[in-house]
This record gives sequence, C-alpha cells and structure tokens, in this order.
Amino acid sequence: MSGPYDLAVVGAGICGLAHALAAARRGKRVVVIDRDAAANGASIRNFGFVTVTGQQAGKSWRRAMRSRDVWAEVAPLAGIEVVQRGLLMIARRPEALDVLEAFAGAEMGRDCRLLARHEIAAYEGLRAGEFAGALHSPHELRVESRDAIPRLAAWLAQAHGVTFLRETAVRAAAPPRLETSRGVVEAEAVVVCPGDDFHSLHADRLAAYGLTRCKLHMLRLTPAAYDPGLPVVMSDLGLVRYLGYAELAEARPLRARLEAEQGAQLEHGVHLIVARSADGSLVVGDSHHYGPTPDPFAPSFVDDLILEEYAAVFAGALPLVASRWTGTYASAPDRLMLRDAPSPALRIVLITSGTGASTSFAIAEETIAELYGS
Ligand SMILES: Cc1cc2nc3c(=O)[nH]c(=O)nc-3n(C[C@H](O)[C@H](O)[C@H](O)COP(=O)(O)OP(=O)(O)OC[C@H]3O[C@@H](n4cnc5c(N)ncnc54)[C@H](O)[C@@H]3O)c2cc1C
Repeated sequence: MSGPYDLAVVGAGICGLAHALAAARRGKRVVVIDRDAAANGASIRNFGFVTVTGQQAGKSWRRAMRSRDVWAEVAPLAGIEVVQRGLLMIARRPEALDVLEAFAGAEMGRDCRLLARHEIAAYEGLRAGEFAGALHSPHELRVESRDAIPRLAAWLAQAHGVTFLRETAVRAAAPPRLETSRGVVEAEAVVVCPGDDFHSLHADRLAAYGLTRCKLHMLRLTPAAYDPGLPVVMSDLGLVRYLGYAELAEARPLRARLEAEQGAQLEHGVHLIVARSADGSLVVGDSHHYGPTPDPFAPSFVDDLILEEYAAVFAGALPLVASRWTGTYASAPDRLMLRDAPSPALRIVLITSGTGASTSFAIAEETIAELYGS
C-alpha cells in the first residue's frame, strides 16, 4: 500500500502534471500515477506551442493567457528552455488578410500587430513577396515537449515533493482508494487525467460525452536557412481551424476559397504550424483524422499535403524529412475540455481539443480551487 496522500493524480501528461503543480503549491501531498515508464502520450508528441492568439474567445483564450504565464514562470525553475516566442500568422490570400484585420481590430487582437510588407520581408526564408499580409502575436511561447515534460515532472518531484509511481496502471479510482497494478494507493482526493483513454476509468461517466480520438501527422525537417528570430509560423489553413479566427464572419469567404483551392488539405484537416528547435531543425505539422481507434498507419500523401503548404510559405529547397510520427488526443463534439465530478473528492479532466499544452495549467488551477476552495 502507498500513501496516504492528499491528492492522487492519474496520468503524467501535461494535464496531470499541471494538477500536481496546482495542488503542490497549496501544500498538498501529491502522488502522480502513470502506466508508462516515461512520458509517451500527446504531451510529448505535440509542438510544445503554447498558443494564445487563435484560441476561442472567452474562457479558452483567458485560460491560454494564464497557462502561458505559468509556463513562463515555471520554465526557468524547472530548467526548461523557451525555444521560441510569438506567432507569425501569414495571410497568403486577400481573404485571409481580411480575417487578420478583423481579428486585429477586436478584443483578442489588442496586443497583436498587422505587419507592413517590409517587416514581413525582413524575416529571412519566407516567400514574403507572395503574401497578402501577416499578423504578429507576442503572446506565444514554445517549449520542446519531449524535454520539457520530463523536466517538469523531475522538478515537481524535486522542488515540490511530488511522488511519481510509474509503470503502474490504475484499475479503479474512487477516493480514498485507488486500485493499481502495484497495489492499493490511498488518497483523500483523486483527479483522473487519462488523455485519450476513455475506457479504463469511469467509462460510464465518460460515455455521456460522445468522445472520440483525433490522429495527427507530424514531421521534423532538417535544419534550413531560417531566420533564428522567426516566431512560430502558421498560414491561411489555420485561420479556418482555430476558433478565435474561424468564428469571425470574415472567415467564411476564406473557407469558400480554400474549399476551391485546397480541398484535399481541408478534407484531411491539414493546416501549417512550423516551429523551430534549438538545433535549427523544424517541427512541422499537422493533419486531423477522427475515429474511436485511429488507424496506426501514416499515409505519405498526408505528409505531402502538409509539405505542400510549407513550400507555399517558405522559400528555397524543401529540407529533408528527419523523422515522422503521429499522435492522438481526445476530441468531443461540443466542448474544448471537460471536467466531470462523479463525487465531491473526484474529478475527471480531459482536454477534448488540441489545446492541452496551451490551457492545462489554468484548467488545473480551476479544478484544484473546486476541490479545496479558492
Ligand atoms: C501531434 C499533436 C500536436 C499537438 N500540438 C499542440 C500544440 O501545439 N499546442 C497545444 O496546446 N496542444 C497541442 N496538442 C494537444 C496536447 O498535446 C494535448 O491536449 C495534451 O497533451 C493532453 O494532455 P493529457 O495529459 O490530457 O494527455 P496525455 O499526454 O496523453 O497523457 C495521459 C497520460 O495518462 C496515462 N494514463 C491514462 N490512463 C491511465 C491509467 N488507467 N492508469 C495509469 N495511467 C494512465 C497515460 O499513460 C498518459 O501518460 C497536440 C497534440 C498532438 C497529438
């Protein structure tokens, strides 16, 4: 038997780690339990792109702002490098520029700026002359998730005394008792952050949310001639996908044009995010395919659709593909996250959209305030 703890968190992805941090900061004795030996889920397969601009207006945008602040505070303490800052949203088409202008003029665009042609051209490596315009957002930061998540966990253990039980599957979680593959764990409260596993714990509760899974294709390209000061880059296809822009009326004409010109990209949920790593290599994605068990195959034509958009934005020869991977996350038809409360001391928290790196810290603070009072 292990414990007793104040709080047991199931899942050591970003959602679980964020809950561990929020509880530990209140002086709670926390245990995090994960069935894997090391981080292996969506939280290390993503871009590590903490996105603010583009999040849905309201709660989601505010959560991203708060989570960005927590990342900025925690990163130096945990030895996590912030690899990039800001976002450059490219408008290849006039219709895309209309969306950016509308966004810049509204509440969420307050600190963002439409760039003049010479400012876009100043970034080395872009097809700047072919763009209709661009928006710069100062809010974002990017970490290298495959390093950042293990470092965050190690820092939680070291600086906050969080206990980690790895290679331990949780079979039942009802406070004050969790049944695991290594025996019983006692904890007064439990937060279950299972990522895209809807069946192992509280499947009866989760069944009500109509959940499915989303599979994404990702690529790493070898280092290219690329302005080291360039923020993360996105383009037109992202403007009809990210709700902060897509819900603007100006996104409709853009969507109509993209349907005519890039139907294959829309069909496979392809849009462009290009992030730069410390060694100069580029993390490029992504695509979106939905299903309860996404197939494990990664057809190369989907990668080609992503690379086609990359080549429309970046000048010069296409860098080589150094590695390819897929990742999956939870998806719900009608919400970006869910927090279910089967009993007073139990919460189930899922990020049901591709926004966990951007919103988990704020979501966790809300959960912990709910459990222990604000
Ligand atoms: C390719 C890709 C790119 C993305 N890009 C971004 C991005 O740029 N920005 C952004 O904000 N978001 C992005 N996302 C989304 C983000 O990564 C996810 O929303 C987030 O990582 C979900 O975190 P999580 O902790 O809920 O899940 P996970 O990281 O999947 O962690 C869940 C953990 O729970 C454990 N677990 C589950 N059930 C049990 C059990 N019964 N017992 C023990 N352990 C259990 C699993 O082993 C796993 O370690 C992306 C996602 C993908 C896949």
